[in-house]
Amino acid sequence: MSITSFLPTDAEGGFCGDISGYKYLQSAPKTSMVPPTRTLRIGGLTPMTTLDYPGELAAVVFCQGCPWRCRYCHNGHLLPSRGGEQISWSEVRSFLEGRVGLLDALVFSGGEPTLQAALPAAANEARSMGFKIGLHTAGPYPDRLRRLLPFIDWVGLDIKALPADYPTLTGVPGSGERAWASLVLLLEAGVALQVRTTVLPGWSDEKDIRPLADRLAAFGVRNHVLQHCRMDSVPDPALE
Ligand code: SF4
Repeated sequence: MSITSFLPTDAEGGFCGDISGYKYLQSAPKTSMVPPTRTLRIGGLTPMTTLDYPGELAAVVFCQGCPWRCRYCHNGHLLPSRGGEQISWSEVRSFLEGRVGLLDALVFSGGEPTLQAALPAAANEARSMGFKIGLHTAGPYPDRLRRLLPFIDWVGLDIKALPADYPTLTGVPGSGERAWASLVLLLEAGVALQVRTTVLPGWSDEKDIRPLADRLAAFGVRNHVLQHCRMDSVPDPALE
């Protein structure tokens, strides 16, 4: 399957929309304009976990902002581009300096980490300290993801549904094509990958899960996990 059949039809940097007054998908900056790590907006830090990077002891940085508004998102505080409490990258860097040799990895999660142009520089800096770099992403920016590949060791990619079913979940037209383009990109790059799907209430094995799992397998996905929808504080009351 060629990646070109899944690439968004609009130019990634120019795609723009508005959800609840939040402007999203700003133009991707050129390399010479990449902002320094201090501009990375961070809404939270988990100092140690064994759950977020398979087989590794990791810390998790929760990046602020996401272009999508999934019906079942339970990270509502991380969706706006700026949140209430922010942690600076220099604080994270100081934390990491004290964890060299104690932690294996740093995971960038969110929100949507690839929203932020400062992410490659931050990942590169953490990696140069000896940490493996993990990324949790829903894949809304395949082009940015491609530029991030040299700095990441493992990806947990959300594939929410077949491409045509995405807008009813994310609220954003074209989101499915973007996510699946990111999947193809990661498969072609050969990066260590886990694909995750959140199973919504009312989904059936026959109608929803099996067709998705079969399509993923046909694409070459070997590590696909299902996760149950957390019903606490989901934005869509119809799911509760
Ligand atoms: S892509 Fe992830 S962080 Fe963004 S709205 Fe959906 S579930 Fe929430």
